[in-house]
Amino acid sequence: MINTIVPISIIQTAVSRLSEMNLYNLPFGKHFSDHMLEADYIDGKWINIQIRPYQPVCFNPALHALHYGQAIFEGIKAYANANGKASIFRLQESYNRFNQSALRLQMPPIEKQIFIEGIRQLVSLDNSWIPQYEDHSLYIRPFMFSTDDCLGVKPSENYKFMTILSPSGPYYSTPLKILVEEHYVRASPGGVGQAKVAGNYGSSMLAASRAKAEGYDQVLWMDAFEHKYVQEMGLMNFFFIRKGIAITPNLDEGTILKGITRDSCLTLLREMGYRIEERPLSIDEIAEAYNKKDDIELFGTGTAATISPIGTLRYRDLTMQFNVDQWRVAPDLKKSLMDIRKGITEDRHNWLTNV
Ligand SMILES: *Cc1c(COP(=O)(O)O)cnc(C)c1O
Repeated sequence: MINTIVPISIIQTAVSRLSEMNLYNLPFGKHFSDHMLEADYIDGKWINIQIRPYQPVCFNPALHALHYGQAIFEGIKAYANANGKASIFRLQESYNRFNQSALRLQMPPIEKQIFIEGIRQLVSLDNSWIPQYEDHSLYIRPFMFSTDDCLGVKPSENYKFMTILSPSGPYYSTPLKILVEEHYVRASPGGVGQAKVAGNYGSSMLAASRAKAEGYDQVLWMDAFEHKYVQEMGLMNFFFIRKGIAITPNLDEGTILKGITRDSCLTLLREMGYRIEERPLSIDEIAEAYNKKDDIELFGTGTAATISPIGTLRYRDLTMQFNVDQWRVAPDLKKSLMDIRKGITEDRHNWLTNV
């Protein structure tokens, strides 16, 4: 059994909904497991730490988060391994990033014991909800929001932390069609681009809807000043492979989400013998490589979407099209990552937390 330091009270559901579920080919984020984790920040302390049946929560209409947007989240995945045991991928790194996001929005840090132990216990309780099919997993969504119930722009004094679990199939099942966005901007230096804050997604939706109306899955965000340097995609970091070199935009401007999958991919690519370049990457450089007919691969990386090859990239009048079935790097990388997550190859970097 798990050693608990913070007491987490557990109220188990009387009737599991699992028997009504088919865990195969589930849409992303539509179904939730039997239980949820919850804690309240009141009078400067985290209290009411509990796991209880998944259910609606009730609020005052003046709920601070709805008006002023102090809301952050994380995305993590749990996988069932070959021995039928479950592990959570890079839980510690998510915990660190969660508190960095919290700090950026002047929210209190969550205690490690609540985040790490709480999620571990929640996943352990609902571990039969982890789908075992290829490209399936249990998506873990921790989030925190402000709960003061009065108006006025200042940091809230009260917060709620929650975690819900969603058994999910693949996020994208076909190669991505991506449109280079040169008008709308996701993030600029000094802003909140590197934090996983809810507002970043609301503000991205107009551009994404317009791209969708033209038949694209997502936009590729460019830098705020010249619309020339690649940042990232909706919820994925961006990789460009050319001549044995793996190139991805550098993070030091603070405009790009510090993806944990990005970091895992850099580690694995380095081990696979690729030279890594984290540096400004212009869209012209990609177009030039395409026009020269170089062997290139473009893909997005993220917890939800794992490694998603880009089959079409449209930049102004140039529609770059790729035969992703002939690629080697993206599928190799995806397999290496999946083999670690599923316990098929050794967890050399200590990325797994056993449940
Ligand atoms: C979550 C997210 C990513 C991917 O991060 P991971 O830690 O790999 O899941 C990339 N970009 C944005 C904007 C994100 O929200």
